Amino acid sequence: MLSLIDMAPVHTAAIVLHSIRYGETSKIVRLATRELGIQSAIAKGAMREKSRFGAKLQTLSQGMAQLYVKSTRELQTLAEFEPTKLRRELATDITKYAVAESLAELMLRVAPAEANTELFDQLETDLDELVAIDTEHLQVSALMILWNAVNALGFTPALKLCARDGRELPSGSVAFSVDDGGFLCKRCSPGRGARTSRLPEEDRVLLEQLVAGVGDRSQKLSAKRNAAHKRLLARFVTCHLTEGTPLKALSYWESLG
Ligand SMILES: [Zn+2]
Repeated sequence: MLSLIDMAPVHTAAIVLHSIRYGETSKIVRLATRELGIQSAIAKGAMREKSRFGAKLQTLSQGMAQLYVKSTRELQTLAEFEPTKLRRELATDITKYAVAESLAELMLRVAPAEANTELFDQLETDLDELVAIDTEHLQVSALMILWNAVNALGFTPALKLCARDGRELPSGSVAFSVDDGGFLCKRCSPGRGARTSRLPEEDRVLLEQLVAGVGDRSQKLSAKRNAAHKRLLARFVTCHLTEGTPLKALSYWESLG
């Protein structure tokens, strides 16, 4: 068996997606790393009072990780974690926290195992934006950030042409089918079932803006309209990204007023 000193450590930027206590003194963390994709690692002694990890391995914190990696092994060894962004602010606003946790859950459930620097950089940008954003702009920004993550993971909804047959879409109000993954033309929309909703033109335009990440982030949505757009996004994610199982954090975000 190879001992640690036989392996060269890998230094990589990493974001803690999940962290659980392991045994008396250790933690097991799931990391999004810039160089190695998603990795599980044990941080030995992380729970000890004088641990070199201190309180750094909190979910959503970011740092430079030193990992001993063996490709045949599922659990790697985290030797160091030098924090660069602790993001404690996320824990002070329940909506921010729910959105950030949703991003972490999405990465854990959907991100490819191999390294994807674009995805890592996107996650970093999204978390930084959540930290910085004014609470009053959070309603639309949260929707944009989550749709942006859906896009980055490769699941952009079809909003330009019919999601079923690629035909031109009517102008004005339009049907959105969760199951089909986008808008439907007049021919396809009748009888598409319970998870198809008709979007008035203003909501069609808003959805296009949310998915593209453009438009006025400070606009205020009515409670009903906000809830409808949150529900549509959560259903889309459950249907297309997480194989029918809702993400806990996303369901919680959806339930917030
Ligand atoms: Zn069609």
